[in-house]
Amino acid sequence: MSFVEVAIKVPLHRTFDYKIDEQQPPLTPGMRVTVSFGNQKKVAVVLALKNTTDVPDNKIKQIIEVIDDQPILSTQHLDLLKFTARYYCYPLGETIHIALPAALRQGQCADKTSISMVSLSEKGEKLPSLKAKTQLNLLKQLANSGKSSLTELKALGFTKKTIDSLVTKGLIEQSIEYDNQWQQVAPTIGTKPTLNKEQAVACTSINQSSGFNSFLLEGVTGSGKTEVYLQCLENVLQRGDQALVLVPEIGLTPQTVNRFRRRFPDTPIMLWHSALTDNERLQTWRFCEKGSCAIVIGTRSSIFLPFLKLGMIVVDEEHDSSFKQQDTLRYHARDLAAYRAYRHKIPLILGSATPAFETLHKALNNKYQLLSLTERAQTSTDNQFQLIDMKSQPDQAGIAHASLAFMRQHLARGKQVMVFLNRRGFAPTLICHECGWLSECSRCSTSATFHKAIGQMICHHCGEQNNVPHQCPDCGSTQIFPNGKGTEQIEEFLMTEFPETPISRIDRDSTRRKGSLEKALDDINQGGARLLVGTQMLAKGHHFADVSLVLILDVDSGLYSCDFRATEHLAQLVTQVAGRAGRSGEPGQVLLQTHFPEHPLLQDLVNNGYQDFARFALQERNDAELPPVTNMAIVRAEGHNIKQVVDFLTDLVPVQGVSGIQLLGPIPAPLERVAGKFRFQLHIQAHDRPLLHQYLAQMVDYLSTNKLAQKVRWSLDVDPIDMI
Ligand code: ADP
Ligand code: ZN
Ligand code: ZN
Repeated sequence: MSFVEVAIKVPLHRTFDYKIDEQQPPLTPGMRVTVSFGNQKKVAVVLALKNTTDVPDNKIKQIIEVIDDQPILSTQHLDLLKFTARYYCYPLGETIHIALPAALRQGQCADKTSISMVSLSEKGEKLPSLKAKTQLNLLKQLANSGKSSLTELKALGFTKKTIDSLVTKGLIEQSIEYDNQWQQVAPTIGTKPTLNKEQAVACTSINQSSGFNSFLLEGVTGSGKTEVYLQCLENVLQRGDQALVLVPEIGLTPQTVNRFRRRFPDTPIMLWHSALTDNERLQTWRFCEKGSCAIVIGTRSSIFLPFLKLGMIVVDEEHDSSFKQQDTLRYHARDLAAYRAYRHKIPLILGSATPAFETLHKALNNKYQLLSLTERAQTSTDNQFQLIDMKSQPDQAGIAHASLAFMRQHLARGKQVMVFLNRRGFAPTLICHECGWLSECSRCSTSATFHKAIGQMICHHCGEQNNVPHQCPDCGSTQIFPNGKGTEQIEEFLMTEFPETPISRIDRDSTRRKGSLEKALDDINQGGARLLVGTQMLAKGHHFADVSLVLILDVDSGLYSCDFRATEHLAQLVTQVAGRAGRSGEPGQVLLQTHFPEHPLLQDLVNNGYQDFARFALQERNDAELPPVTNMAIVRAEGHNIKQVVDFLTDLVPVQGVSGIQLLGPIPAPLERVAGKFRFQLHIQAHDRPLLHQYLAQMVDYLSTNKLAQKVRWSLDVDPIDMI
């Protein structure tokens, strides 16, 4: 072989050939080399060896040097990356670049062999009383987890100083774990509950399956899904296999991780998330690859970790939108998990209380096996839903009289109350009482949000920030008022309404400082705050024992939206938020404020629950020929020159159409202008997936030679999950 085909990180949909120097060490696919590209020296990954090339003799360059003596990507792993690049129509070189830890992309040595772990010493296990609270907290954390890596402790806010002083006191020990192959024949299993019948059925179905099988584990929060994962993992570990557990970013709370560690005390479990350093990424990557790590609990990008012997993939909260990357390589970790499970011939468990319609559609068509957990494992109390009609209610920060009365009752019983509004700031706009002027962002087709506490108008899309005007810029009137509600306003109103009650607000503004979210959550759990006001951030995954009432304020915005997924997302959110109530032993109460109490989807959701709602709403999607019953891709384009943007997309639509493909557009994006740029879209739909991908591949080919494509910023989103 005298040539190699390599992938290089460049925004081009093609690979490149180079000549091999006979003097250099032998090459195999998956090894890194350096090559000269343009005037630069770049790291490239070998894809194949070839005898011939189309590049003329006088043009072909030699590779500069060989970096690895062994492939850093196995054939199987290269296959995953090639599939990803093809499926999402993204350049292979850039796909590999995104998947690899930084150290490997930059051409550094691939070996990293040790990791520092911290655990309690014998003396520390007695949990002696200590004056320093952080030191005591660290001991408690280690008592809970059994063992934590230095990195995790730092992520939890413990400093090196705290750790060192406990080492000096002989209360904790540091150990180095080496990159040996993990060979646990019979892993120690911590105490575990006996499964209820539905859990047992689920575990048996999963454990007895052979080869590739996808399972949708559908069960409300608290129904025991995690317990099913744990008991299936046991089986995987006993076979000496590895497992990947994908969780949304918020799922990596210490409670979750500690639960896994307590169950499998001598099993190497590693975490993968956005806060890891480059070095830690490389370590985890290598540990997985060598089989030294048995379980990885990770967020989205952990789907690209290499495993020596992968035995199972779990995707918890599989409906969560954080599994879809929203820029560059727009992959969906859940969908890639399905591909990986299929290629490795292993089971895939997708768990959710509110499955994505994509997943449910497959389950209802018997592509995935549906396993249901219908009862809460510990408490069997169901939440009571109630619709509060907002028509002709007085304007008191958007909270109805009836809602306030319920809040008083629950607070009087010593319970916690959660108020949920997915809009931060004080008010989404300011309005002029005399001429109707509305505060807008100067660079986006959207309003500028009024932030009262800091006296600023802020655009939530481009970040533009201005002082609050004292006069209307149009008519000069001083009669300008907040219009609409945000969490800041709700908090202010509730402070006057419940002056004795401690309130905690949780949104992106109140938790900007590092560690402030943890502190606020801690405070809520200690029972400090009784009234919790928050956005989406409050909705996800946190366990609050005392919340018995949840009030959802802005239901209507989800009912009437230009995004066809809005009702699905609303129902998921309502169900998730409602899951925060009713853990205190008594049934929780959930209030939904709406101007449309008779809306059929709301009625269905409230009376029959998400399961019923979803099946009904899925039928609607079917009738409207929308995903998941068809397949979709969106080409988005933006630029300062509106004509160029529109022309670029128009050029992609063949006059005579394409059989089997529906094209819609160019249409303005729901937010037509952001940061001064005009944004348009082209929607592409097809029932036949291979046909869609064939069409997209041709389109990308065409674009790589198209002049207009250089004038606008464009991107292609395959299986988009939001329309913005
Ligand atoms: P989910 O993942 O669906 O939210 P979990 O697995 O976390 O549910 O279970 C909720 C709670 O019930 C946990 O405290 C768990 O330990 C407990 N639990 C789960 N299964 C059982 C069981 N079969 N018997 C007793 N307790 C259980
Ligand atoms: Zn005015
Ligand atoms: Zn803006």
